[in-house]
Amino acid sequence: MTTTLDDAATTLDALRGVVDGDVIGARDDGYDEARSLWNAEQDRRPLAVVRATSPADVAAALRVAQDRDLPVAVRGGGHNTAGGGCCDDGVVIDLGPMNRVVVDPVARRARCGGGTRLRDLDAATQQHGLAVTAGMISETGVGGLTLGGGMGWLGRKAGFAIDNLVGAELVTVDGRVLRLTEDEREHPDLWWAIRGGGGNFGVVTEFEFRLHEVGPVVPVGLTFYDPGQAADVLRMVRDLEPTLGRDVGVGIFAISAPPAPFVPQEYQLQPVYVVGIAGFGTPEEHAALMDRVRAAVPVRFEMVTPMPYTALQSMFDDSVTWGRYAVYEKSAYLGDLDEATIAVFTEHVARRTSPYSQVIVDMMGGAYADVADDATAFGGRRDAGYTVFILGLTEPDDPSSERPWVRGLHDALVDVGKRESYVNGMVEVTESDVRRVYGERKYARLAAVKAAYDPANVLRRNANIRPA
Ligand code: FAD
Repeated sequence: MTTTLDDAATTLDALRGVVDGDVIGARDDGYDEARSLWNAEQDRRPLAVVRATSPADVAAALRVAQDRDLPVAVRGGGHNTAGGGCCDDGVVIDLGPMNRVVVDPVARRARCGGGTRLRDLDAATQQHGLAVTAGMISETGVGGLTLGGGMGWLGRKAGFAIDNLVGAELVTVDGRVLRLTEDEREHPDLWWAIRGGGGNFGVVTEFEFRLHEVGPVVPVGLTFYDPGQAADVLRMVRDLEPTLGRDVGVGIFAISAPPAPFVPQEYQLQPVYVVGIAGFGTPEEHAALMDRVRAAVPVRFEMVTPMPYTALQSMFDDSVTWGRYAVYEKSAYLGDLDEATIAVFTEHVARRTSPYSQVIVDMMGGAYADVADDATAFGGRRDAGYTVFILGLTEPDDPSSERPWVRGLHDALVDVGKRESYVNGMVEVTESDVRRVYGERKYARLAAVKAAYDPANVLRRNANIRPA
């Protein structure tokens, strides 16, 4: 598609005539900030960014874009590595201004706008000692994370974010504003589809979640190991897993140690394995678990301390600064940390070439598997033991150097029998990738819902479901 300056000017005028929020074009201050995404490699130049303030703004922007046959991108937090939150030569509907969070502590419910960041949701719910499953980086958008599933420290206790979704307000591409609830009668297939099927079916302008008692202070243990201890560390986590309750969140992180005060000088910025354990039970249970961890494999250094839940949720933020890196990402589900898988990790993780690259292994189990597979559109393995995120992070001017490493580790995991990808953890989202994520049966059902609510595939800057 080619666009002229005239197209841009008339589009901006048309949008400014119908929306209340700011409309930012290429000649306006703030354009580069408005179009930026977390993944620096996704450098896109839209005609207009609409800072939507209401469902009416969203509906109006969708109308103008469709009347002019322009691409549409919807932006929640802009954190998605595939860059779905922006587009070239089209209209970006940025939900950022819609970030109000309202908590009902008695009913244990929170409603939040479609552009809310995890940090805003966590901060508001924690004022009442409540929380819902959210990801491990506080800047991530609630929108994209939830619509694809949503996993984090609380997942073994509370399941996916979608498992706690009890309502949503959604604007369809033809401008209807629908209010969906967990006992949805009028649009049951749509309610099913938005819980895992991503932003394919409409723009969600409000989410409503069920909340759980959490913190506000939780005991957290980070134990650090040399890369040479990787196999022992992975075996330790595997052996601990069957003994753990649901009140424990566990992650394994292959990263560079931060230059933090608790990190000995010789380890700073060096590759390490970290086992992170968040305790949502009693401090005594957490202390006993940390003793078992220390007894199993010699710890090189550690940081074990109670901390606010909101601090846990932002603990790794500095390692993934907004716009700092070009990112290539793949993910996979693991049944178990069997010996073949451990051999793949020990061989491949050591081969990363960028000090910024990371491998994150989230332990699943517990409440993740409570909900029947068919009950939501989630396109993954609820019964998996672990989810692996492989993130190749490089300087923005060197976007491709870490790709062979990411692909090599992912392919080796697939070779030893690991399954496919988490839809929120992949940069490449071809039709065959998306079909594999959902499987043919779920994909067909999603394609039928897509045909009913977005037959022209207006919302296609995402892990796209083609209308049936
Ligand atoms: P955006 O880029 O704004 O949007 C992503 C997609 O969702 C786009 O297609 C967009 O159109 C659509 N979308 C967003 N909001 C809406 C809405 N309100 N209505 C309709 N469509 C919408 N995932 C986890 O589950 N757990 C983690 O712990 C976790 N950690 C991560 C850490 C890092 C460093 C990174 C890079 C990713 C992580 N993710 C995690 C993946 C994360 O869930 C996805 O990147 C997600 O897409 C981010 O959502 P967003 O709203 O910020 O993204």
